[in-house]
Amino acid sequence: MPKQWFISDLHLASERPATIRLFERFVCDYPQTGDRLFILGDLFDYWIGDDDDAPLAATVRATLAEAARRGIDIAIQRGNRDFLMGKRLMRDCGARLLPDCHLAQVAGQPTLLMHGDLLCTDDVDYQKARRRFRNPLFQWLILRKPLDKRRRIAEEIRRKSGEATSLKNADIMDVNAETVVRYLRRHKVRRLIHGHTHRPDTHQHTLPDGSHATRLVLPEWHEDHVTAWCDDGASLQPVQVDQIAPGANIGRRSNASGTSNRASSASKSSVKSTSD
Ligand code: MN
Repeated sequence: MPKQWFISDLHLASERPATIRLFERFVCDYPQTGDRLFILGDLFDYWIGDDDDAPLAATVRATLAEAARRGIDIAIQRGNRDFLMGKRLMRDCGARLLPDCHLAQVAGQPTLLMHGDLLCTDDVDYQKARRRFRNPLFQWLILRKPLDKRRRIAEEIRRKSGEATSLKNADIMDVNAETVVRYLRRHKVRRLIHGHTHRPDTHQHTLPDGSHATRLVLPEWHEDHVTAWCDDGASLQPVQVDQIAPGANIGRRSNASGTSNRASSASKSSVKSTSD
């Protein structure tokens, strides 16, 4: 039975190499041929355009393209940090770009998938900025600037917001409950999965007709661990993903599948390793 995997808010950045290795390990070891991988936004801590030639961009392209070649269906939503992700990147990664609201069948139930920033309507300033960032003319103007100029702008924005090193949820406003209910009703679903807020949890919402809906908030990624969510067709379950410490006995692990995958991941991600 093919599985569906849900992750978001990896915030991949060159100064967090451990998270990049964890991402490579996850993509290599967990989804199997025939599975679907949903990345619900903020794959990157920032994305300056699909022509980005930095090593991180190359690593992510290669990792996802390899997964696509293994027969994994990769579907990606834009986040508030990587809203400039476009068709060219998707082609390079062998992935599909999903709209901001995407309906999917999850564990037998129609489910709405979102990044989550659209739900944070109490943050009026952000919603205003979001409309500007998502304006095609604004994006065209940004993308025609040279790469190094875009890189400098991105670094400047990150420095000012103090978010280059901090991913605290205190910096991000939580969702507005009425907005959540509005989206649930508009899409006629009783389940919503999103990320963005860095407040992983499962919430219940009561709809005006008295029925109940579930909202699963995906966690942000850490240096050495993350919880992915997996739909095996019958139920949606958390799956703990840990980084193997360099030099650790990988034979100890029991929850990863595929010895050959694991071995290739370990040799790819650990340059210091000489034993294998
Ligand atoms: Mn976000």
